[in-house]
Amino acid sequence: MELETGQKKVLSLGMLCLDIVTVCDSYPKEDTDKRVLDYYWQRGGNASTTSTVLAMLGERSEFMGAMATDLESNFLRDNLKSYGVVFDDAMVCGPEVHTPVSMVIINQSNGSRTILHCAKNLPEVNFSHFQTLDLSQYKWIHIEARPAVQAYTQIMLRVVQYNETAVDKIKVSLELEKPGRPELDSLIQYADVVFISKEKADDERLFSKEDVVRAYIKKCKAGAVVVCAWGDEGAAALSGDGLLCTSPVFPPETLVDTLGAGDTFNAATVFALCQGRSVQEAISLGCKVAGTKCGMKGNNGLR
Ligand code: ADP
Repeated sequence: MELETGQKKVLSLGMLCLDIVTVCDSYPKEDTDKRVLDYYWQRGGNASTTSTVLAMLGERSEFMGAMATDLESNFLRDNLKSYGVVFDDAMVCGPEVHTPVSMVIINQSNGSRTILHCAKNLPEVNFSHFQTLDLSQYKWIHIEARPAVQAYTQIMLRVVQYNETAVDKIKVSLELEKPGRPELDSLIQYADVVFISKEKADDERLFSKEDVVRAYIKKCKAGAVVVCAWGDEGAAALSGDGLLCTSPVFPPETLVDTLGAGDTFNAATVFALCQGRSVQEAISLGCKVAGTKCGMKGNNGLR
Protein backbone atom coordinates (compact mmCIF):
# COMPACT_ATOMS: atom_id res chain seq x y z
CA MET A 1 0.00 0.00 0.00
CA GLU A 2 1.36 3.44 -0.97
CA LEU A 3 2.18 5.62 2.09
CA GLU A 4 0.89 9.20 2.44
CA THR A 5 3.67 11.76 1.81
CA GLY A 6 3.59 12.74 5.51
CA GLN A 7 4.34 9.15 6.52
CA LYS A 8 7.28 8.74 4.16
CA LYS A 9 10.84 8.72 5.44
CA VAL A 10 14.04 10.53 4.63
CA LEU A 11 16.79 8.02 3.92
CA SER A 12 20.42 8.99 4.55
CA LEU A 13 22.85 6.75 2.70
CA GLY A 14 26.57 6.65 3.47
CA MET A 15 29.02 6.15 6.27
CA LEU A 16 28.62 5.06 9.89
CA CYS A 17 31.66 5.18 12.12
CA LEU A 18 32.74 5.58 15.72
CA ASP A 19 34.22 8.91 16.80
CA ILE A 20 36.54 8.71 19.78
CA VAL A 21 36.61 12.34 20.79
CA THR A 22 39.31 13.90 22.97
CA VAL A 23 38.75 17.42 24.26
CA CYS A 24 41.90 19.48 24.90
CA ASP A 25 42.32 23.00 26.24
CA SER A 26 44.78 23.68 23.41
CA TYR A 27 46.09 21.67 20.46
CA PRO A 28 48.78 19.22 21.67
CA LYS A 29 52.42 19.49 20.70
CA GLU A 30 53.99 16.42 19.10
CA ASP A 31 55.82 14.02 21.47
CA THR A 32 54.49 15.54 24.71
CA ASP A 33 52.46 14.00 27.56
CA LYS A 34 49.38 16.10 28.27
CA ARG A 35 46.23 15.88 30.40
CA VAL A 36 43.02 16.36 28.47
CA LEU A 37 39.69 17.79 29.62
CA ASP A 38 37.41 14.98 28.51
CA TYR A 39 36.96 12.06 26.17
CA TYR A 40 33.86 10.27 24.91
CA TRP A 41 32.56 7.94 22.25
CA GLN A 42 30.16 9.39 19.73
CA ARG A 43 28.44 8.06 16.62
CA GLY A 44 29.94 9.63 13.51
CA GLY A 45 29.97 9.35 9.75
CA ASN A 46 28.44 12.08 7.59
CA ALA A 47 25.22 10.33 6.57
CA SER A 48 24.80 8.85 10.04
CA THR A 49 25.06 12.30 11.66
CA THR A 50 22.74 13.82 9.06
CA SER A 51 20.15 11.09 9.81
CA THR A 52 20.37 11.92 13.54
CA VAL A 53 19.76 15.62 13.06
CA LEU A 54 16.86 14.91 10.69
CA ALA A 55 15.30 12.73 13.41
CA MET A 56 15.84 15.42 16.04
CA LEU A 57 14.16 17.99 13.78
CA GLY A 58 11.11 15.72 13.58
CA GLU A 59 11.52 13.80 10.30
CA ARG A 60 10.96 10.06 10.09
CA SER A 61 14.60 9.26 9.49
CA GLU A 62 16.37 6.13 8.28
CA PHE A 63 20.08 5.42 7.92
CA MET A 64 21.41 2.95 5.38
CA GLY A 65 25.05 2.01 5.08
CA ALA A 66 27.46 -0.79 5.79
CA MET A 67 27.53 -1.93 9.42
CA ALA A 68 29.92 -4.28 11.19
CA THR A 69 29.01 -6.63 14.05
CA ASP A 70 31.94 -5.84 16.38
CA LEU A 71 31.94 -4.23 19.83
CA GLU A 72 32.00 -0.71 18.39
CA SER A 73 29.00 -1.45 16.17
CA ASN A 74 26.92 -2.44 19.24
CA PHE A 75 27.47 1.05 20.60
CA LEU A 76 26.47 2.56 17.23
CA ARG A 77 23.28 0.48 17.00
CA ASP A 78 22.16 1.44 20.53
CA ASN A 79 22.91 5.06 19.75
CA LEU A 80 20.91 5.05 16.48
CA LYS A 81 17.98 3.55 18.39
CA SER A 82 18.21 6.17 21.13
CA TYR A 83 17.69 8.90 18.52
CA GLY A 84 14.81 7.07 16.84
CA VAL A 85 16.74 6.57 13.59
CA VAL A 86 15.57 3.42 11.77
CA PHE A 87 18.33 1.23 10.30
CA ASP A 88 16.46 -1.99 9.46
CA ASP A 89 17.88 -2.06 5.93
CA ALA A 90 21.53 -1.46 6.82
CA MET A 91 24.02 -3.72 5.02
CA VAL A 92 25.25 -5.91 7.89
CA CYS A 93 28.71 -7.36 7.23
CA GLY A 94 30.42 -10.47 8.57
CA PRO A 95 32.34 -11.05 11.82
CA GLU A 96 35.80 -10.21 10.43
CA VAL A 97 34.71 -6.73 9.42
CA HIS A 98 35.72 -3.76 11.61
CA THR A 99 33.85 -0.53 12.26
CA PRO A 100 35.80 2.47 10.96
CA VAL A 101 36.98 4.73 13.75
CA SER A 102 37.76 8.46 13.74
CA MET A 103 40.01 9.74 16.49
CA VAL A 104 39.07 13.37 16.92
CA ILE A 105 40.93 16.08 18.79
CA ILE A 106 38.76 19.02 19.79
CA ASN A 107 40.60 22.15 20.78
CA GLN A 108 38.26 23.80 23.24
CA SER A 109 39.93 27.20 22.93
CA ASN A 110 38.60 27.64 19.37
CA GLY A 111 36.24 24.66 18.76
CA SER A 112 38.45 23.24 15.97
CA ARG A 113 38.30 19.53 15.23
CA THR A 114 41.21 17.50 13.89
CA ILE A 115 40.24 14.08 12.56
CA LEU A 116 42.46 10.99 12.28
CA HIS A 117 40.46 8.30 10.51
CA CYS A 118 41.13 4.58 10.49
CA ALA A 119 39.17 2.57 7.91
CA LYS A 120 40.06 -1.12 7.98
CA ASN A 121 37.83 -3.35 5.90
CA LEU A 122 34.21 -2.18 6.02
CA PRO A 123 32.95 -2.45 2.43
CA GLU A 124 30.90 0.18 0.62
CA VAL A 125 27.18 -0.40 0.14
CA ASN A 126 26.61 -2.29 -3.06
CA PHE A 127 23.85 -1.91 -5.60
CA SER A 128 22.36 -5.36 -5.04
CA HIS A 129 21.79 -4.43 -1.40
CA PHE A 130 20.23 -1.09 -2.35
CA GLN A 131 17.87 -2.91 -4.71
CA THR A 132 16.30 -4.70 -1.76
CA LEU A 133 14.83 -1.38 -0.50
CA ASP A 134 11.19 -0.56 -1.13
CA LEU A 135 11.62 2.95 -2.53
CA SER A 136 7.95 3.83 -2.06
CA GLN A 137 8.73 4.34 1.68
CA TYR A 138 10.84 7.43 0.98
CA LYS A 139 10.16 11.02 0.03
CA TRP A 140 13.81 12.10 0.08
CA ILE A 141 17.11 10.25 -0.24
CA HIS A 142 20.25 12.01 0.95
CA ILE A 143 23.42 10.44 -0.42
CA GLU A 144 26.93 10.95 0.92
CA ALA A 145 29.05 10.18 -2.14
CA ARG A 146 31.47 7.41 -1.25
CA PRO A 147 34.46 6.21 -3.32
CA ALA A 148 32.45 3.54 -5.15
CA VAL A 149 31.37 5.44 -8.20
CA GLN A 150 29.96 2.46 -10.07
CA ALA A 151 27.67 1.38 -7.22
CA TYR A 152 26.59 4.94 -6.51
CA THR A 153 25.82 5.57 -10.19
CA GLN A 154 23.64 2.46 -10.24
CA ILE A 155 21.93 3.53 -7.02
CA MET A 156 21.16 7.00 -8.30
CA LEU A 157 19.98 5.69 -11.68
CA ARG A 158 17.65 3.30 -9.84
CA VAL A 159 16.02 6.30 -8.13
CA VAL A 160 15.78 8.16 -11.47
CA GLN A 161 14.09 5.10 -12.97
CA TYR A 162 11.70 4.81 -9.97
CA ASN A 163 10.77 8.48 -10.37
CA GLU A 164 9.87 8.02 -14.05
CA THR A 165 6.65 6.22 -13.10
CA ALA A 166 6.10 7.20 -9.44
CA VAL A 167 3.27 9.59 -8.58
CA ASP A 168 5.17 10.93 -5.55
CA LYS A 169 8.69 11.44 -6.78
CA ILE A 170 11.66 11.02 -4.44
CA LYS A 171 13.89 14.08 -4.14
CA VAL A 172 17.60 13.29 -4.08
CA SER A 173 20.35 15.28 -2.40
CA LEU A 174 24.01 14.47 -2.89
CA GLU A 175 26.90 15.46 -0.66
CA LEU A 176 30.35 15.72 -2.22
CA GLU A 177 32.80 16.36 0.59
CA LYS A 178 36.17 14.74 0.13
CA PRO A 179 38.75 16.30 -2.18
CA GLY A 180 40.64 14.20 -4.74
CA ARG A 181 37.68 12.18 -5.99
CA PRO A 182 36.74 14.03 -9.21
CA GLU A 183 35.11 10.90 -10.66
CA LEU A 184 32.25 11.33 -8.16
CA ASP A 185 31.23 14.59 -9.88
CA SER A 186 29.53 12.40 -12.50
CA LEU A 187 26.81 11.72 -9.87
CA ILE A 188 25.79 15.40 -9.77
CA GLN A 189 23.56 15.10 -12.85
CA TYR A 190 21.15 12.79 -10.94
CA ALA A 191 20.58 15.00 -7.88
CA ASP A 192 18.01 17.69 -7.09
CA VAL A 193 20.19 19.28 -4.42
CA VAL A 194 24.00 19.11 -4.41
CA PHE A 195 26.11 19.99 -1.36
CA ILE A 196 29.73 20.87 -2.16
CA SER A 197 32.13 21.19 0.80
CA LYS A 198 34.70 23.93 1.37
CA GLU A 199 37.33 21.20 1.66
CA LYS A 200 36.60 19.99 -1.88
CA ALA A 201 36.36 23.57 -3.18
CA ASP A 202 39.74 24.52 -1.66
CA ASP A 203 41.30 21.58 -3.46
CA GLU A 204 39.82 22.80 -6.76
CA ARG A 205 41.03 26.37 -6.20
CA LEU A 206 37.54 27.78 -5.78
CA PHE A 207 37.99 30.40 -3.10
CA SER A 208 34.49 31.51 -2.12
CA LYS A 209 31.11 29.87 -1.61
CA GLU A 210 29.69 32.03 -4.42
CA ASP A 211 32.41 30.85 -6.85
CA VAL A 212 31.65 27.24 -5.88
CA VAL A 213 27.93 27.38 -6.55
CA ARG A 214 28.48 29.27 -9.84
CA ALA A 215 30.98 26.63 -10.99
CA TYR A 216 28.93 23.61 -9.93
CA ILE A 217 25.50 24.69 -11.18
CA LYS A 218 26.84 24.00 -14.69
CA LYS A 219 27.15 20.30 -13.83
CA CYS A 220 23.59 20.02 -12.47
CA LYS A 221 20.40 18.95 -14.15
CA ALA A 222 17.75 21.59 -14.93
CA GLY A 223 15.91 22.73 -11.79
CA ALA A 224 18.58 21.53 -9.38
CA VAL A 225 20.17 23.59 -6.60
CA VAL A 226 23.82 23.73 -5.52
CA VAL A 227 24.61 24.54 -1.90
CA CYS A 228 27.96 25.34 -0.35
CA ALA A 229 28.61 25.82 3.38
CA TRP A 230 31.71 27.84 4.17
CA GLY A 231 32.54 27.44 7.85
CA ASP A 232 32.24 30.69 9.78
CA GLU A 233 31.25 32.56 6.60
CA GLY A 234 27.83 30.86 6.35
CA ALA A 235 26.52 29.33 3.14
CA ALA A 236 25.44 30.05 -0.44
CA ALA A 237 23.02 28.37 -2.84
CA LEU A 238 22.31 28.80 -6.51
CA SER A 239 19.50 27.35 -8.59
CA GLY A 240 19.35 26.96 -12.36
CA ASP A 241 17.19 30.09 -12.67
CA GLY A 242 20.23 32.09 -11.55
CA LEU A 243 18.88 32.99 -8.10
CA LEU A 244 21.85 33.29 -5.74
CA CYS A 245 21.01 33.05 -2.02
CA THR A 246 23.40 33.51 0.86
CA SER A 247 23.08 33.13 4.60
CA PRO A 248 25.33 34.56 7.28
CA VAL A 249 26.60 32.41 10.08
CA PHE A 250 24.71 32.33 13.41
CA PRO A 251 27.57 32.15 15.89
CA PRO A 252 26.93 30.64 19.30
CA GLU A 253 27.89 32.59 22.42
CA THR A 254 30.90 30.30 22.85
CA LEU A 255 32.33 28.11 20.13
CA VAL A 256 32.58 24.65 21.71
CA ASP A 257 32.69 21.93 19.04
CA THR A 258 32.46 22.24 15.25
CA LEU A 259 32.63 18.45 14.63
CA GLY A 260 29.63 17.52 12.47
CA ALA A 261 28.65 21.14 11.74
CA GLY A 262 28.51 20.39 8.01
CA ASP A 263 26.34 17.27 8.47
CA THR A 264 24.04 19.29 10.74
CA PHE A 265 23.82 22.07 8.15
CA ASN A 266 22.95 19.53 5.43
CA ALA A 267 20.27 17.91 7.60
CA ALA A 268 18.57 21.18 8.52
CA THR A 269 18.67 22.35 4.89
CA VAL A 270 17.12 19.08 3.66
CA PHE A 271 14.56 19.26 6.48
CA ALA A 272 13.45 22.76 5.42
CA LEU A 273 13.24 21.78 1.74
CA CYS A 274 11.16 18.70 2.71
CA GLN A 275 8.77 21.12 4.45
CA GLY A 276 8.42 23.04 1.17
CA ARG A 277 10.42 26.05 2.37
CA SER A 278 12.37 28.20 -0.13
CA VAL A 279 16.07 27.66 -0.80
CA GLN A 280 16.83 30.92 1.03
CA GLU A 281 14.88 29.77 4.10
CA ALA A 282 16.48 26.34 3.90
CA ILE A 283 20.10 27.52 3.99
CA SER A 284 19.25 30.05 6.71
CA LEU A 285 17.80 27.26 8.84
CA GLY A 286 20.86 25.15 7.97
CA CYS A 287 23.17 27.88 9.30
CA LYS A 288 21.01 28.49 12.40
CA VAL A 289 20.90 24.84 13.44
CA ALA A 290 24.60 24.31 12.59
CA GLY A 291 25.53 27.47 14.55
CA THR A 292 23.56 26.22 17.56
CA LYS A 293 25.35 22.88 17.29
CA CYS A 294 28.76 24.61 17.31
CA GLY A 295 27.91 25.99 20.76
CA MET A 296 27.50 22.54 22.33
CA LYS A 297 29.39 19.29 22.81
CA GLY A 298 28.08 16.77 20.24
CA ASN A 299 24.56 17.38 19.02
CA ASN A 300 22.32 15.86 21.69
CA GLY A 301 21.38 19.33 22.87
CA LEU A 302 19.52 19.96 19.58
CA ARG A 303 16.72 17.61 20.72
P1 ADP B 1 32.40 21.07 8.51
O1 ADP B 1 33.45 21.58 9.46
O2 ADP B 1 31.59 19.98 9.12
O3 ADP B 1 32.93 20.79 7.15
P2 ADP B 1 31.47 23.67 7.64
O4 ADP B 1 32.73 24.34 8.08
O5 ADP B 1 31.22 23.56 6.20
O6 ADP B 1 31.32 22.24 8.35
O7 ADP B 1 30.25 24.43 8.32
C1 ADP B 1 28.91 24.09 8.08
C2 ADP B 1 28.04 25.18 8.67
O8 ADP B 1 28.22 25.19 10.10
C3 ADP B 1 28.37 26.57 8.21
O9 ADP B 1 27.65 26.92 7.04
C4 ADP B 1 27.92 27.41 9.40
O10 ADP B 1 26.54 27.71 9.28
C5 ADP B 1 28.15 26.49 10.58
N1 ADP B 1 29.43 26.83 11.21
C6 ADP B 1 30.65 26.31 10.96
N2 ADP B 1 31.61 26.91 11.71
C7 ADP B 1 30.96 27.84 12.46
C8 ADP B 1 31.36 28.79 13.43
N3 ADP B 1 32.65 28.95 13.75
N4 ADP B 1 30.39 29.56 14.00
C9 ADP B 1 29.09 29.40 13.68
N5 ADP B 1 28.64 28.54 12.76
C10 ADP B 1 29.57 27.78 12.15
